[in-house]
Amino acid sequence: MGEAERGESAPRARISFWCSNGHETQPSFAHDAQVPDTWDCPRCGFPAGQDKDSPPDPPRTEPYKTHLAYVRERRSDEDGEAILAEALAKLRGEI
Ligand SMILES: [Zn+2]
Repeated sequence: MGEAERGESAPRARISFWCSNGHETQPSFAHDAQVPDTWDCPRCGFPAGQDKDSPPDPPRTEPYKTHLAYVRERRSDEDGEAILAEALAKLRGEI
């Protein structure tokens, strides 16, 4: 980007941030602006940090866990139905 040379009034600095997926984003900040510790990755939404080698941890609300919990819930429902069906069959057979 060759536009940096024009900035006599408001010099800006581009700071690189990396998220845990390895995405690099380079928002620019005014020199007197406070650069935050983390920056939301525009590609995946994960927090990105200035240290490429140790990016911030992704947020704990992983859809994978929610899905697992959902599957587990469903399976226990199915188990419950199977047990019920078995019990009913047994009941019918034994009467
Ligand atoms: Zn990312």
